[in-house]
Amino acid sequence: MQNHTVPSEMRALVWLGPHQMELQTLPTPVPQAHEVLIKVGAVGICGSELSGYLGHNSLRVPPLIMGHEAAGTIVSGGGILADGTPVHQGQRVTFNPLVTCGTCDRCKAGRVNLCRSRKLLSAHLPGAFAQYVVVPADLCWHLPEKISFTAGSLAEPLACAVHAVELADAQAGQSLLVLGAGPIGLCVIAAAKARGVKQIIVSDISDTRLDVAKHWGATHTINAKSADTVAATLAVYPGGVDIAVDAVGTGVVRNQAIKAVMPGGAVVLMGLHEDETAIPTNYIIRQEIRLMGSFCYSREAFTTAVDLIARHVVKATPDWVVERPLADGRMSFEELLAGTAPVTKIVLLP
Ligand SMILES: [Zn+2]
Ligand SMILES: [Zn+2]
Repeated sequence: MQNHTVPSEMRALVWLGPHQMELQTLPTPVPQAHEVLIKVGAVGICGSELSGYLGHNSLRVPPLIMGHEAAGTIVSGGGILADGTPVHQGQRVTFNPLVTCGTCDRCKAGRVNLCRSRKLLSAHLPGAFAQYVVVPADLCWHLPEKISFTAGSLAEPLACAVHAVELADAQAGQSLLVLGAGPIGLCVIAAAKARGVKQIIVSDISDTRLDVAKHWGATHTINAKSADTVAATLAVYPGGVDIAVDAVGTGVVRNQAIKAVMPGGAVVLMGLHEDETAIPTNYIIRQEIRLMGSFCYSREAFTTAVDLIARHVVKATPDWVVERPLADGRMSFEELLAGTAPVTKIVLLP
C-alpha cells in the first residue's frame, strides 16, 4: 500500500431515505490536519443503522453515508495514532467512530463518550460504507497483520460490550443474563468472560442464535418464544442474577432484565429499539436495582476490544459473520430488517 495513488472519485453506498440506498460515485474526501484517509477494507452493518435506514433516527439525515464499524489501510494524512505512535502510510487500522472535542468537562473527566459535542461518523459525519473514509488520526488503532479487516471491524461493537460490563463492574464469580444474542449480545458474552465471569445465561427468540451463544460461552440459554425469560432465569439462579444486560431495547425485554436481577443487582441498558418504556420504578427503588444506560465506549474500552480481537478471543467466524460486496448493501439492510439474513452480522467489503 506504500505510495497508494488515491483516485479523485470513489464508490459509496448512500442512504437517500426510508428503504432507499444506492451506490454513487462521489469525490474522495480529503483529510485535514491530524486526520487520515482510510481505504476501507471491511465495514459492518450495525443494528442502530437499521432504524436509521428506516428513517426512525433523528440523528441520521439523508443523503448520508452510514457505516461506523470498519477497518482498513491508511493511504494519506498524518498525525498521532491512539497508541501515541506517528501515522505511517500503509498502516492497517480499525477506528473509533465517535469524534469528541477533548475540551469539554465530560472529555476532561475522561468520559469522552459523553462529550458535549460528540459527533458520530456515519450520522453527523460521513461514514465508511465507501471505498474511503476520513478519520481523526488519534481515533485509529493499529491492527496486527494477522487480523483480517473483517475481524478488525468488530472492534467497535466489541468496545460497546466491554464498556457495558465495565459499567456494571462485572466480576469473576458473578452471574450474568444477556438478553439478545445478536452481535452486541455475543460481544457482551466475550467481554464478560474476559473479566472472569463464567455463569452466563443468554435469552433470544432464535434457536440458531442461541446455538452460536453457546459456542461463545453461554452456560444456559432460554428461548424467549417458548419460555418465560424471568422464570427460566430464576430456575437457574433462584435469587436472581448479579447483572442483566439488555441488548435488545424493547419494553418487554427491559422489564425482563429488571425482574431477573437480584436485590441490589445491576441492569445495563444497551438496546435502543424503543424510545420510551414503562418500568416498575417502585420495585427498582425497593430492590435497590442499579439501572444504567451504556453508550459507546471509553478509549480504554476500545483498546481492550482491539486487544481481544488481536488475541483472537473474538473471531469473525461464518456461524455469525458473512462478508458481501458493498453493492449488496441495500439488500443486506432489507434482509436484516426482515429477519431473513443468514447470520446475525453482515460485513460489506467496499
Ligand atoms: Zn454500531
Ligand atoms: Zn467533549
